[in-house]
Amino acid sequence: MTPFRWRCTDCGREYTRDQVRYLCPECGQAYRPGIPLCGVLEAVFDYAAIGAAFDRGRPDWSLFSAVETEFNPACPVGNTPLVPAAKLGLGLGLDRLWIKNDGLNPSGSLKDRASFLVVAEALRLGEKRIVAASTGNAASALAAVCAATDREAFIFVPEKAPRAKLVQMVLYGATVVPVKGTYDEAFRLSLEYTAQRGGLNRNTAYHPLTIEGKKTAGLEIWGQLGFQVPDAIFVSAGDGVILAGVHKAFVDLRRAGLVERLPRLFCIQAESSDAIHRYVQTGRYSDAPDPCTRADSISVSCPSNAHWARRAVLESGGASLTVNDAEILEGQARLARSTGIFAEPAAAAAAAGLMKVQEGPEPLPREATVVILATGHGLKDVEAPLSWIQIPAAIEPRLEAVPG
Ligand SMILES: [Zn+2]
Repeated sequence: MTPFRWRCTDCGREYTRDQVRYLCPECGQAYRPGIPLCGVLEAVFDYAAIGAAFDRGRPDWSLFSAVETEFNPACPVGNTPLVPAAKLGLGLGLDRLWIKNDGLNPSGSLKDRASFLVVAEALRLGEKRIVAASTGNAASALAAVCAATDREAFIFVPEKAPRAKLVQMVLYGATVVPVKGTYDEAFRLSLEYTAQRGGLNRNTAYHPLTIEGKKTAGLEIWGQLGFQVPDAIFVSAGDGVILAGVHKAFVDLRRAGLVERLPRLFCIQAESSDAIHRYVQTGRYSDAPDPCTRADSISVSCPSNAHWARRAVLESGGASLTVNDAEILEGQARLARSTGIFAEPAAAAAAAGLMKVQEGPEPLPREATVVILATGHGLKDVEAPLSWIQIPAAIEPRLEAVPG
């Protein structure tokens, strides 16, 4: 760990580590449920110290961490493979395409990274209960990491979350409270719960360490590419926190003098859950009125980290676009068949976004180094591909009955 201060991403005020816990006390007052978070905090490290200490020969990633390693839960996360995707790249006109397969985290999603750091923080603070609202993956992640410790995961989840994710939470031993309504309503209820009854709230972006946790995916991409900055990273976005986390990774690296530029960040949203996309395009924020997509993990009306996500796209010279459910399911199948990686629909949205760019008027050049961030495992939601694939009928157990 390197010493850091919290800085408000809206007003720039700075706070010492334990002076604040969630949002900027000034700007956070403007926050009310139903609008994107105000006063999201950013960890600002002693970058000169990081730059001086970081050794590419023996990289110490804990230099970038905002919690001491002694509090790490006994549930290793991250260090997921960066997989070369030559076959998929060939079809997309890209010679250097990679997949960061974060579905291989313990609970099957990138969100383990955020839960890991927030649970470490709970251990540091002596908080027994960690509370979260989630579309499913963040809750499964929190439940898994808590299961490896003596902390309790207390979870608000929309009742329509995919069953595999609900099964994960219950089996890991979390207290699960399904909420009638949307993710946004579960989010609001969880804030009321921690305000009135206590516990550490892990809501995404609301607790700034969720962004720091997700940052590790970006740091790993840089390390796994031989300490090179890729030209573009495709990230699916619901709340926009993974996008912010990947952005923060390269911002930290640049501030530490370890890289000179940011990768172009491509924000991919589902067509009906497109609040960040429209915000990027128009500069004006409005909710997605009726998010309804098979990509449940990115189905959000009011993205909590909309402001940072927009900034990540603009500052990096990236772009935002939307994909519909048919494109997402096609992207899922194409990714599976050409890389062996079975990604859940929300993760496949990033692949579908790249396919749309490459088949559009301004494809990325063949020599570009491009990364798709595959954020969750496909086994979390087998109902999605079952909506269209055909499983062959059974045959009699005789050789003559075998087709072909
Ligand atoms: Zn502020």
